[in-house]
Amino acid sequence: MKKNQKTLDTSLPRPPIVVVLGHVDHGKTTLLDTIRKASVAAKEHGGITQHIGAYQIDVKSQKSKVKSEESQFITFIDTPGHEAFASMRSRGAKAADIAVLVIAGNDSVKPQTIESIEQIKQANIPFIVAVNKMDLPTANIDKVKQDLAKAGVQVEGFGGDVPILPISAKAGTGVKELLDMVILVMTFKGLTSEPNAPVEAVVIETHIDKGKGMVASLVVQKGTLVSRTLLFEGQKSIGNVRAMFDEFGKIVPSAGPGKPVEVLGFTSLPEIGSLVTDRSVTREEKPKEVVSLDAQNVADELPDFLKPVSDEKSLAVILKVDTAGSLEAITASLSKRVVIVHAGIGDITEADILLAKSSKAIILGLHVVCKPNVQLLAQTEKVIFRTYTIIYELLDELTEVISGLKEVKFEERELGRGQIIAEFPFEDSRIAGTKVLSGRLARGDTVRVVRDETDILRVKIKSIRQGKEDTTRVGIGVECGVLFDKTVDFILGDAIIAVTTG
Ligand code: GDP
Repeated sequence: MKKNQKTLDTSLPRPPIVVVLGHVDHGKTTLLDTIRKASVAAKEHGGITQHIGAYQIDVKSQKSKVKSEESQFITFIDTPGHEAFASMRSRGAKAADIAVLVIAGNDSVKPQTIESIEQIKQANIPFIVAVNKMDLPTANIDKVKQDLAKAGVQVEGFGGDVPILPISAKAGTGVKELLDMVILVMTFKGLTSEPNAPVEAVVIETHIDKGKGMVASLVVQKGTLVSRTLLFEGQKSIGNVRAMFDEFGKIVPSAGPGKPVEVLGFTSLPEIGSLVTDRSVTREEKPKEVVSLDAQNVADELPDFLKPVSDEKSLAVILKVDTAGSLEAITASLSKRVVIVHAGIGDITEADILLAKSSKAIILGLHVVCKPNVQLLAQTEKVIFRTYTIIYELLDELTEVISGLKEVKFEERELGRGQIIAEFPFEDSRIAGTKVLSGRLARGDTVRVVRDETDILRVKIKSIRQGKEDTTRVGIGVECGVLFDKTVDFILGDAIIAVTTG
């Protein structure tokens, strides 16, 4: 998009809702903090004190180049968590109008950058690339452009029209230009303000407060929330607006399109990423219904949720997780084509294997184990199970399976095997000093971590080091450092087995 295509002296009918995405440590939080701190309104109110999951700024009063008589607000979703956005996306609730993809100029395109691009594509929203950390001498915006092209994103000046801007979130440089670009892109895209339409608001965060009771942060997309507005999630009545607060902790009497508010008055908490409306909405009317469970009921055994697998393209799944919260997060993010045959809390059991066999389901576990005797049964009954420790790895693999569902055999081949012989902490990761015993290990491989013949978890290799050098793959006999996320719970002696599917 060329700047001279349209002047900037325009104002949008409603505040655009922006989500900030990108690889870990590339500066999302710093950017959101810098924008928040620069907000004049925030200063006037003594700073944004309440974390409600989203905040609004007035671009005009931030002295940007946008010339407008009126205030021009932008709403930022302040939960850069991968899962939260994934959950919103798959609910079909277009939580954001536009994304800012943050890429550190010294690190370029990384796995979560690619994942973010996928999410943006699936949400079908425009995006702007902010190349961050340009204050560092090693930052190289041209490399970022090249790497983006390899990832299928053509930026402005590089054969495409995705805007790309150099910034330093830390120093604050380029941030105003970024905000102007948000307004400019949204001007082209066109936004409608429908303050009198029936209310639709997307759920950003929920929690239970000792004093306030059930609380949810909503960003209104259409209509206006006022005191006593009835609240529905689908056809379920979930309360009515008792009070609303903004990010300054101030009571607000009404919240129109684009406005983030913390709402009190729920009798039942809606799911993160779902749409709350002011009227009962039937399944057909709902933007994209997904298979979901009521988290409260899940701790008990089989929910009355068994549904026939009618569509040949759907995938029957048994979910075993550690907490009701994890279960809710997963179910909120599932595709319509996933049918949950059974969901429960706890390790994978023999009963799960037998149920999977009779219902032709696969078993997915998060933070749970499958003991050797259960594994043995799975092998004899030819039941597929997978265990994960990182929720989005589970979701991503599921997405891959669904997108190629008909061809998937879901059989694993072993690519290589190593043993963990040492451990070193490293920044926000853990390095497993590993000796390769057979085959090879490579960056990006999915590995099973196996302890005493029990699958402990399943995780992707972030990177591999040989000595101090990063490398892409190591062969038999080599001792190397395998980088995992710091949450990955390995111990010395564990085997790591790189596998492929299909
Ligand atoms: P996030 O994981 O994407 O939210 O990344 P953070 O915002 O937490 O930033 C990760 C690290 O990068 C922190 O140590 C920041 O101080 C640093 N950082 C963020 N932005 C910049 C920048 O513009 N320049 C430099 N030099 N460092 C930055």
